[in-house]
Amino acid sequence: MLSMPLETIKEKITAQKGLSADEIDKLIKKKLDSLSGLISQEGAAHIVANELGVKLVDISGSVTIKELVAGLRNVEFAGKIIRKYEVREFSTEKSTGKVGSCLVGDNSGLIRLVFWNEQIEKLDRAKEGDVVRVKGAFVRDNSGRLEVHINTMTSFILNPPDLDPSSFTSQAPKEEGEFTRKKISDLQDQDVNIELLGYVFEVFSPRFFEVCPQCNARMRPTDAGLACSTHGVVEPKYNFVLNLYFDDGSDTIRLVCWREQAKDLLGLTDEAILAFKDDLAAFSEVKQSLLGEMIKISGRAQMNSLFGHLEFIVSSVSREVKADEEIKEAQEEFVEASNKVASAEVPKEKTEPAASRVDATASKDVSGSETAIDFSDIEF
Ligand SMILES: [Zn+2]
Repeated sequence: MLSMPLETIKEKITAQKGLSADEIDKLIKKKLDSLSGLISQEGAAHIVANELGVKLVDISGSVTIKELVAGLRNVEFAGKIIRKYEVREFSTEKSTGKVGSCLVGDNSGLIRLVFWNEQIEKLDRAKEGDVVRVKGAFVRDNSGRLEVHINTMTSFILNPPDLDPSSFTSQAPKEEGEFTRKKISDLQDQDVNIELLGYVFEVFSPRFFEVCPQCNARMRPTDAGLACSTHGVVEPKYNFVLNLYFDDGSDTIRLVCWREQAKDLLGLTDEAILAFKDDLAAFSEVKQSLLGEMIKISGRAQMNSLFGHLEFIVSSVSREVKADEEIKEAQEEFVEASNKVASAEVPKEKTEPAASRVDATASKDVSGSETAIDFSDIEF
């Protein structure tokens, strides 16, 4: 059976038979009852649609990508090749083969086309930006994602003259490792692969803590001394985390830089940073060099449940922000946004100078028990 969302089936029944949503729900309910709950709502809706003579899928002509549903055979659609992926070879116990794929988009959506073995010849002739008309393909569900499988019966017609490439506007989705530039004020809990550009305006001394030299787990005090829950009492080594405050003109946020990111940000080795453990005063020079610095960072936003505000976990950091258009733009936006904040009548906490907010947090920061980060859940 075709897999089609319940709402889509209902819409099609309404469109073709003029029944109200209520009437359709009643028919579906009746069908469900008569089949003693042996089928899903979608299944019942399907049967109702068929009994009413509703054509759920019109496969007599070309459909849009959004209209493709799993189970369709002999489907026809057109789109632009947005990405062409490397052909991969695979081997199982019984056979070896290769599989190729590309991503095709029209203005309704994107879909992956899959080519097995000798079908890859069809893909070989294509390049990104080509328009393609696909006829006689099979749509299947692969772990919740639709794919179109190209077989020997499928025509894969490149750049047919009746299709205008400029009429297809779909864009490729973000790949893993690509980042979305956001403003701090637009960040939400669990936003990942985010890039921020802004200024450092407060830097706290690195915090050091003991970890197990064998498994890097945080060590806990016991009667016998500091111990790893797996390896017992062992001589600890030290790890560190660096917190700073960052402003992009839209808002401010606390950045959390773990060991590697802290090293990148400070441009220092493990040894150099660990030396601050016994000489925190020496850190002030490093701190001064960072204040006011424009940096570009990527990472993810996370709600700090202890303080009830977002913080940003840095995964990579760049101090080498090019003195180009990007920085000029950011500076202009920064000034613009700062002016806006200063002049607008916004709630008091928003107009409060940033520094006082930092001080409040900073005092908590050094008090130990109220640290913003709970190390206990974190693996290093
Ligand atoms: Zn351990």
